[in-house]
Amino acid sequence: MNITNAGVRGYNPTGVVIHNDAGSNGANAGFYNDWLPKQNPENGFAHVYIGNDGRLQASDFSNMAYHCANSYGNANYASWEVCQSEGDLSQFLRNEQAVLDDVAKYMKQWGLTPNRDTVKLHQELSATSCPRRSVEVHGGTVESCRSYFIAELNKRLTGQTSSTVVANNTQTNTELEDDDLMKFTYQVNTKDGKPAGGVSYFNGTKVIGLTNGDQWTIIKQIYKDTTGKDLKHYVWNEGAPWHLRFLQANNIKVEMAPNK
Ligand SMILES: [Zn+2]
Repeated sequence: MNITNAGVRGYNPTGVVIHNDAGSNGANAGFYNDWLPKQNPENGFAHVYIGNDGRLQASDFSNMAYHCANSYGNANYASWEVCQSEGDLSQFLRNEQAVLDDVAKYMKQWGLTPNRDTVKLHQELSATSCPRRSVEVHGGTVESCRSYFIAELNKRLTGQTSSTVVANNTQTNTELEDDDLMKFTYQVNTKDGKPAGGVSYFNGTKVIGLTNGDQWTIIKQIYKDTTGKDLKHYVWNEGAPWHLRFLQANNIKVEMAPNK
C-alpha cells in the first residue's frame, strides 16, 4: 500500500510522531490493511501501523501524510500508529516497543537525534487526546511521555538492539536501563494475613505507594520489557516489618509508609 494523496515531501522527515490508534484488540495491522483503502485519505492516515500481527507501511516516507491535523507536522514529520491502543495493556506495550524499534531505525537512517525538536506528540500539534494510552502509562503529561520516547529511542540508537541486551549492559545510565538498581514491590499484611495497605514500589531510590492495580501492572510490564525479568514482589507482615529494616539498612528515608 502506498497512499500518495498528501503529496511528495522531497526531503527526509525532520521529526517523528508516535500516534495511538484508539483502536480495540481487533484493530491490528491487517485490519488497517483492509480498512484504509475504503477511507478518504483526507480523514487521516499515518505512514506506518504496527500491531500484534506485524507492520503495515501505508505510505512511503518520501510522501507527506495527513496524520496530525497540522500542516507543518503533516508535511515534515514521519508518523507511526501504535495499533490496538485501547485494547489489552500488555499487547499495547508490546506494539509500542515495536514502534519505538522502527522509529529508531529510521531516525538513524535520516540522521535525526531524539530530542524535543524531533520527537513530537500529536496533542501538541492539534486538539486531540492522542497518544492517549502512551501518555497515561508514561507519566500522564506530554513531557513525561516525550521523555520516555526519547529515552527509549536513545537506548536503541546507542547501538543496542533489544531491551534484554540493554539491561545487561552496566555501562548504560538512563533510568529504565539501570538494572544495577534494586527494584521490587511489596505489601504488608496484618498478623492474620489480611493486607494492611496497598502495594508499594521501591524504585531503587525511594518507596512509592501505588494507588491502583493498573499502576502495578504497568510497572511490572515495563520492568519485564526492559530487563527480560519478572519484578520481585515480597509480602511481609506487621509482626516482622522487613521493609522498614531494609530501608533503614540502606539509609533510605521512608517518604510514604504504607503501614503507618
Ligand atoms: Zn494521533
